Amino acid sequence: MKNVKLNNGVEMPILGFGVYLIPDYDECKRAVLDALETGYRLIDTASAYFNEKAVGDAIKESGINRKELFITTKLWHTDSGYEKTKKGFEASMEKLQLDYLDLYLIHQPFGDYYGSWRAMEELYENKKIRAIGVCNFYPDRFLDLVEHNKIVPAVNQIEIHPLFQREYDESIMKPYGTQMEAWSPLVRGEKILDNETLKNIGAKYGKTPAQVILRWLIQRNIIVIPKSVHKERIIENFNIFDFELSSDDMDKVKSMETGKTAFFSHSDIELLKIVFGIKV
Ligand code: NDP
Repeated sequence: MKNVKLNNGVEMPILGFGVYLIPDYDECKRAVLDALETGYRLIDTASAYFNEKAVGDAIKESGINRKELFITTKLWHTDSGYEKTKKGFEASMEKLQLDYLDLYLIHQPFGDYYGSWRAMEELYENKKIRAIGVCNFYPDRFLDLVEHNKIVPAVNQIEIHPLFQREYDESIMKPYGTQMEAWSPLVRGEKILDNETLKNIGAKYGKTPAQVILRWLIQRNIIVIPKSVHKERIIENFNIFDFELSSDDMDKVKSMETGKTAFFSHSDIELLKIVFGIKV
């Protein structure tokens, strides 16, 4: 497994396993056990995925040394603010059954995330968390946060895949050493895995479109956390370290950029109206 070094010196695997949309306890626990058996050591969950207990139980049952694992969870916006963040963190740790966390992320740039960040800075300084970061912070909110707080986020987890490549975001975060991590790297299995360009590139290396995408992302030094509940796909997504895309093939994938989200924007007012329950 290749690691990346975060801006505080902590090493994080470049490939991990995401568990969004696996709310069923047995299915999630089995998928995490399959991933750990395959060799994944980074697991990405969130309080809002309602599966931290299943993840914690799988970790325990795997018997893998805690130091070998890299566990991420996230704070939901309804827990934003200093006090609620401390409580939210304790609730996650109880479900995960861990005594320290590797990475804690603010899930969205909503609510009192300044208060949350202060609580997370304290938890980090008290060695309860090895690294702290954010998700879905676009360049404006990212710059505002870093310029007005003590600790610079180690990671920003955002939507990144061949259809939405985020090079501008990368250029803003790079001077701060904030590591990009790609959510929905496979565009959730939709709209992309039957793409002819990816199929043709894959055929040259004996790899699938999913493997080409994940390889393209890690060659950009972006952390990827594909999710699957199927063991053969969990293995497929892991087997991306035995080939290298040529610069010509990297460029071909680059030409797939659409410049827009495949899902939703965190600054979309219609989305915010729903999230905040705004009726006016
Ligand atoms: P992914 O891009 O990882 O795609 C997952 C989907 O693709 C599943 O439906 C899966 O199906 C399918 N799939 C996986 N591997 C393959 C394969 N090799 N061939 C064909 N189909 C495949 O989407 P996610 O949205 O799950 O993103 C990954 C992770 O990112 C999440 O699990 C979560 O941890 C994180 N995330 C974070 C967000 C944030 O706001 N911070 C937002 C969204 C995600 P099946 O399971 O049936 O195999």
